[in-house]
Amino acid sequence: MGTIREVLQKKSKPMNSLDKPIWLNQAESLPDRNFITCSEKKLVDLVRKHGEFTKADLVSYTDYSRTKITNCIDSLLNKKIIVTNKDTEYSGGRRSKTFSLNGKLGLVAGVDIGATSIDLGIADFSGMFLARYMEPASVKDGPIKILGRACSLLERILRDNNLSYEKVKGIGIGVPGPVDFSMGTLISPPIMPGWDSYPIIQTVQQWFPSANVVVDNDVNVMALGEINQGVGKGVDNLIFVKIGTGIGAGIICEGRIYRGAKGCAGDIGHIGVNNSDTLCPCGNKGCLETVAAGPAIAERSLKQAQTGKSPILLKHYEKNGKILHAEDVGNAAREGDPIAIEVIRESGQFVGDVLASLVNFYNPEMIVIGGGVSNLGNLLLSSIRQAVLLRSLPLATRDLQIVFSEIGFDAGVIGAVNLAMDYMFSLSTVSANTNGKMRSDS
Ligand SMILES: [Zn+2]
Repeated sequence: MGTIREVLQKKSKPMNSLDKPIWLNQAESLPDRNFITCSEKKLVDLVRKHGEFTKADLVSYTDYSRTKITNCIDSLLNKKIIVTNKDTEYSGGRRSKTFSLNGKLGLVAGVDIGATSIDLGIADFSGMFLARYMEPASVKDGPIKILGRACSLLERILRDNNLSYEKVKGIGIGVPGPVDFSMGTLISPPIMPGWDSYPIIQTVQQWFPSANVVVDNDVNVMALGEINQGVGKGVDNLIFVKIGTGIGAGIICEGRIYRGAKGCAGDIGHIGVNNSDTLCPCGNKGCLETVAAGPAIAERSLKQAQTGKSPILLKHYEKNGKILHAEDVGNAAREGDPIAIEVIRESGQFVGDVLASLVNFYNPEMIVIGGGVSNLGNLLLSSIRQAVLLRSLPLATRDLQIVFSEIGFDAGVIGAVNLAMDYMFSLSTVSANTNGKMRSDS
């Protein structure tokens, strides 16, 4: 395929419901669509969430009768959405069949566009990754260049791994800025010149016309990665917090991303923090980001180092060519530097204070901390935990887990693949309903 072609932005009316994105009609005309009923979708969701399932498992996880489960399984097998595995379990003296998603249904690509990198992965429908690739790229180069590069990289990875271009049924894309999910566009992203309202979906569909393309904010996408293949696998109510050059949160509510009215729920980096009057690029003073994100940690430490209070931090600063990164502060803390330890502790407390309010408000089962600054280690985590425990209601923190991400930077690509899967299955269900093809649920 040649160079990327810029497409004219369509003037489209926004939809009222986030569950019916505007590009639904376009996607409905795609070939080989598999429509599923709401009941079938519920079983598909369970299989995606837990992996292999027996009929008995499905009965126990739903309020459906055994007959209804049998009908749904037969229908999903006919549509080739699930497959029967080898007999694996005994149940009542005989082996029970297990079912899982049919990996051969097609390919799904995950694209994680970061501020300084493009990270790509291709998985089959069972969620198994077949190829991965990452390379540095500046998002400031603009959408034409970056999307063109992402698409041509996808083509190359497919070719290099003998994977069929036409089998790509879905592409999920995470971008580092606020996304209007119903439109699939970025809205005034602060670090992405040229991306405001750019038609990402239509551009990518010019390269991959047979794919359903869906775009979301990178933190939401990482949260999806955590509940699908990370430490939060199977957790229904979770907050994922990314602490890097900025701070943001992805909210998982009852197993799904909660995006809010306009798609910007979870933007906790701009919640005001007490006793800080640092000016934030958003125009307000004392935002969480300005005191607890990577640059703030480095800047506060540098100020202290330059007063001569921390020879260790000064050593890192000189060694780097007069630059101090949050990572250096982490290293200094591990070397026992009291200033670095104090700065990390303070930052953890600021994050923890904000999270305590969220815990009281939302009562999650788990908070997962990810992003570059999470490399600062257990000192940061324990400060966050301490602040949350101190300021949250005992009932809300009784079984609350606050943990670091275990999949780290992979969360973006894993989440992007699952974003596309979620979208395709919900689209199939919406279509089944709107086309009147839905089987009776009684
Ligand atoms: Zn702000």
